Amino acid sequence: MIDGSRGGNSARFLNHACSPNCEAIETGERVFIHALAAIAPGEELFIDYGLAVDGAVTNDIRAQYTCHCGTSAGRRTMLGKQR
Ligand SMILES: [Zn+2]
Repeated sequence: MIDGSRGGNSARFLNHACSPNCEAIETGERVFIHALAAIAPGEELFIDYGLAVDGAVTNDIRAQYTCHCGTSAGRRTMLGKQR
């Protein structure tokens, strides 16, 4: 899980978007950020957080993780598919 509120490395500068321009690829204990499209200098980087939460995804949980990126394809959530 990538959560900017918990400090960490430079990946904390990545914000969530439902139509991201980057993806995170986990290799062992390392996470590589891979560009999905050409990115101009200074352009903001986004990944699809696809967050997982412990326990049931209640309406409260869903509300906390609502995405406001506004893309038409948006899932409107930062949560990924739950296991
Ligand atoms: Zn979104």
